[in-house]
Amino acid sequence: MEPSGQVLEHHTVLVRGGRVDSVVPSARLGNGDAVEVVNRAEHVLIPGLVNAHTHAAMSLLRNIAADLDLDNWLRKRIWPIEARLVDEQFVTDGTELAIAEMLLGGTTCFADMYYYPEVAARVAARSGIRACIGLPVLEQPTAWARDLDEYLARSLDLRDEYRADPLIETLFSIHSPASTSDTGLARLRTLADQLQASVMIHLLESPSERHRVQRKFAMGPLERLQTAGLVTDLLIAVHCVQASAAEIETLAAAGSSVVHCPASNLRLASGIAPVTEMRLAGINVALGSDGAASNDSLDLLGEARLAALLATGISGNAAALTPHAALEMATLAGARALGLAERTGSLLPGKWADIACLKLSGPQVVPHHDVATAVIHSAGRAAVTDTWVAGRPLVTGGRLTRIDAVELISRARRWHPTILATLDTIAGQ
Ligand SMILES: [Zn+2]
Repeated sequence: MEPSGQVLEHHTVLVRGGRVDSVVPSARLGNGDAVEVVNRAEHVLIPGLVNAHTHAAMSLLRNIAADLDLDNWLRKRIWPIEARLVDEQFVTDGTELAIAEMLLGGTTCFADMYYYPEVAARVAARSGIRACIGLPVLEQPTAWARDLDEYLARSLDLRDEYRADPLIETLFSIHSPASTSDTGLARLRTLADQLQASVMIHLLESPSERHRVQRKFAMGPLERLQTAGLVTDLLIAVHCVQASAAEIETLAAAGSSVVHCPASNLRLASGIAPVTEMRLAGINVALGSDGAASNDSLDLLGEARLAALLATGISGNAAALTPHAALEMATLAGARALGLAERTGSLLPGKWADIACLKLSGPQVVPHHDVATAVIHSAGRAAVTDTWVAGRPLVTGGRLTRIDAVELISRARRWHPTILATLDTIAGQ
C-alpha cells in the first residue's frame, strides 16, 4: 500500500512490540534474536482489512431484509424489532459474533454505529480487534439516554474512558441528516471542532432521503450538514449513492471521506454510488459492509471485489478500480477515513502490526499470475488463515484464538426463536 501498488516476493515482516519493525527479504534473515518465527510459505500478507462502516450487533438480524427497500426495511423491520429486542445482551452477543466473522475474514479494524456503545467497546477490547466505536448523538429517549444532553454526557464519558487505549477509538455518529435537530447538529459541531473528533453519518443513501430532508428543511441533505458546519475533513459520509456532481465537489473540497457499502446499497435497492467520479475528484473512498441485516455478511474482501466489478462495469473502463486500488480502499483508505492512517492500513515500519494472511495454494487461486488480482478476484475470505492485530495472533490456521467459537455460535443460535417470534408479532400488527 505504501508505496502504492507494490508486491514484495519472499519477504518477511519483522514485528517488535506489536508494531511493524521492518519488511525485509527472507533470504537476508539470520536466526537473529527472533522470539517467534511464523512461516507461511504459500501465502500472501496484506494489511489487515478496515471495515469502515458496520452495525456489528445487527449480525443477529442477518437474513431479515425480506426483500424490502431501505425505507420499508427500516420502518417495517429494523426499528420495530430493535425497539423490542435490543438490550445489553443483544449487543454483547451480536457484536462478538460480528467480530468473530470479521477476524476470520481478515478484518482487523471496524467502525461501529449502534446502541449501547459501551458494550460494543467492552466486547471489542476483550477480543483484541481494533475498533472505532460510534457515540450515538440522538434526541429521542431510549434505554441508554433520555435526551440530547444525556446522550452527549454519556458519549463524552465513554470517550474519556478509552482515551489511552491503543485499540479502541471513538467517533460521533448520527443516523441521517433528517434525524437530528438544528440544536443537535450545532452541539455536535462544537464538540467535533473542540475535540477534533470524526463524525460518521449515513448520507445521500436513497432518493427518499433527499425528498424528506428537502421537505422538512427546505434544503438538501448535504446542504443541511454544510449549513451546520459539519462538512469538514472530520466528516465520514457513509453511502453517498445519490451524490450529484456538485455534491461530490463539495465533499472533495472539504476533504471529507466517503464509505462505500456496495452490497448493502444493492440489497436495499438504493442504487450504486458514483465511486469512480468520487475518486477522480480526489475523495478518500473507504469500504464498509454496513450491518449484516442489509448485506447479509461482513466480508470486506467480498465488498472489495464487488466494488471493483461495479466500478468497471458501470464506467465502461476496465481500469476504473484496479485490484490494487480495491485493496487500498479496503485497507489504507479505511484507516484514513477513521483518522488512523498513522497507526494501521499498511505495513509501514512504525505502524501497528495489523496483518491478514491468505493462503494462495487452493484450486481457486493457482496459478496466480498477479497477486493483487488473486487476492481480490480469486481468493476470497475463505483463503484467510491468520489475522494479527497489534502483532497478536487472533486467528491462527483459520481458527479464532481468543473467542470460543462453539460457545459463541450456540449463544447466537439461542436468539433465533426470539427473533422469529418478534418478527411474527410485528407482522401481525
Ligand atoms: Zn449503516
